[in-house]
This record gives sequence, structure tokens and C-alpha cells, in this order.
Amino acid sequence: MANSKYEYVKSFEQPDLLLPNTWIVIRIDGRGFHKFSDKYAFKKPNDRRALDLMNAAAERVLIELPDVVVAYGISDEYSFVLHRSCTLFERRSSKLVTTIVSMFSAYYVHLWPSFFPYSPLTFPLPGFDGRAVQYPTVQNLRDYMSWRQVDCHINNLYNTTFWTLIQQGGMDAKAAEAELAGTLAADKNEILFSRFGMNYNNEPDIYKKGSIVFRDYELVEATTSSPALNEEALTAPEIALSKTQAEKERKARQKAKVVVQHVDFIKDDFWEQRPWILSNRPGKIKREP
Ligand code: ATP
Ligand code: ATP
Ligand code: MG
Ligand code: MG
Repeated sequence: MANSKYEYVKSFEQPDLLLPNTWIVIRIDGRGFHKFSDKYAFKKPNDRRALDLMNAAAERVLIELPDVVVAYGISDEYSFVLHRSCTLFERRSSKLVTTIVSMFSAYYVHLWPSFFPYSPLTFPLPGFDGRAVQYPTVQNLRDYMSWRQVDCHINNLYNTTFWTLIQQGGMDAKAAEAELAGTLAADKNEILFSRFGMNYNNEPDIYKKGSIVFRDYELVEATTSSPALNEEALTAPEIALSKTQAEKERKARQKAKVVVQHVDFIKDDFWEQRPWILSNRPGKIKREP
């Protein structure tokens, strides 16, 4: 565009590049979902349809943004992890966050009728906020992920006990809250078991462990010296791939199926068996059974 006397306003724009060679986590969270979940009568403590809808929207984000290597969702939040070698939008924070937030929100609204066919959305429509956080090491990134999965467990055990006391124990919210004040995990397990004959371990994994989304390839046998967890190898500056190699990997990534699982990833096994998540080098395409 030709220079105009207005052009100088461009210089007011502040750069917001994220550091190179760091793992970028973009966490989005539903705005006012406490109220939103009441409006659409989400089943408490866990509405399966609402979680499936979150997962379906996250799946679309992974399909459309190959830089996202893994994502993890609980409740009304999702964390999207961009590989440390990501160069999308030159790593501009606002561009990355807004792209993921708007893409996710658009799919959430678009896919809503498939999951809630009898409750059409009405104004105000749902929305999500988002932020970007950078983690310099694989250990930091894994600790971030573990933190979210532990949060899922703690919240779910609390919520499950709280709602059981109300729904099956006939308590009101205040009494249930008082009953749970100061209790440990073992106490909550005991309340569920002795008073309601409920074994928390038998609750569905999607509630206990949350949902992890990634590209699926053939699993690799885990070994103790697994390169998947070699911090040095995984944080050394990337050597640029040749154009043909990069193109080959792009196609391999597109062919991989994006899957949603409800498994533990705090232990090493998950990462060792799926080295492609942290290395960002495609694995062997799975044969259809
Ligand atoms: P904010 O705008 O600050 O995020 P919020 O009301 O969304 O406020 P959160 O801390 O994000 O608060 O909590 C989300 C709430 O949404 C949960 O406490 C829960 O009540 C509800 N919720 C989200 N997903 C589900 C679900 N699948 N089933 C039942 N309730 C859900
Ligand atoms: P980015 O993803 O980086 O934002 P972009 O392709 O959206 O890339 P912009 O710099 O945002 O590029 O420019 C928007 C472009 O979209 C304009 O240059 C124009 O070609 C087109 N465009 C936007 N709105 C209209 C419109 N109402 N009518 C016709 N063309 C439009
Ligand atoms: Mg929220
Ligand atoms: Mg939340």
C-alpha cells in the first residue's frame, strides 16, 4: 500500500513474539460456564455430552493446525501445546492465541447441535478466553501437563462426592460443603464407598483422567533409555529440514488420525510409547485393523 500520512500509526503496534525454542501452551477456558452449564442443564458433576463437544472442537483444532502436537481438556478448559520449533505467525502471541480461541469457539458453536440436539443455543452464545505460556524444558512442559491432570483428579473426586451427597444423600449444597471441609482423598473415597456403595475407581476414565488429543501412530516399545524423554536431544536447536523432507513430514502428519484418549500421562510410559509428540517427527502410520 502507498505511504500515507496515516501510516505512522503502524509504529504503535507492539511486538509480542514468544521466545524461540520454547514449548508454547495456549490454555483456553469457557467464559462463565458455571452459569452456562446451568442454563443448558448440564448433568452434574459431569455432563458427558458437554465433554464430548469440547473434545470434538479440540480435535478440529489439531486437524487444522499441525503445529499443535498435543492438547489436554478438562471441564471447560483446553490446553493446546505448540512444538518448540513452531514458527506459525512468527510465534506472535496474540495471533496464536486468538486463532486458537476463535477456531475452537467457532467449532464449539457449530458442533453444538450434534451433541445437544434438543437444546438449541440462544443468546448470549458461549465464548472462551485464552493465554499463552512458554515452557523452556520438556520437564517443565510435562509438569504443566501433570499439573492439569492432577487438578482433574482432585476436582473430580471432590465434585463426585459433593454431588453424590446432594443427589443421593439428600443434602443441600451448604451441608455437603461442610461435610467435605478438611477431608482427604481417602475420606472422600470412603464416603462414596461406605455410604453409597460407590467405588470411585470404577468411574469413567474421561471424568477421572480428562481427555488428551494427539496424532496417532504405531506405538513404540518403551525402554528406560527412551529418546522420547532425552531432555538434551529434545531441546537442542532444531536443524532445519530439507524442503522435500519437510513436505514429506507434513503429508505424514496429515495422514495420521487425530485421536482422543483418557489415559494417564503423568508417568513416563505415555510419552515413551509416543515419541512423535515431543519430537514432532511423524511415526509409522497405523494400519487399519
Ligand atoms: P470463568 O469465566 O472465570 O472461567 P466459569 O464459570 O467458567 O468462570 P470455571 O472455573 O471455568 O468457571 O468452571 C467451569 C464450570 O463449568 C465448572 O465449575 C462446572 O460448573 C461447569 N462445567 C464445565 N464443564 C462441565 C461439564 N462437562 N459438566 C458439568 N459441568 C461443567
Ligand atoms: P491473516 O490470517 O494474517 O490475517 P489475511 O489473509 O486475513 O491474513 P489481512 O491482512 O487480514 O489478511 O487482510 C484481509 C484481506 O481480506 C484483505 O486484503 C482483502 O483482500 C480481504 N477482505 C477482507 N474483508 C473483505 C471484504 N469485505 N471484501 C473483500 N475482501 C475483503
Ligand atoms: Mg470457565
Ligand atoms: Mg474452567
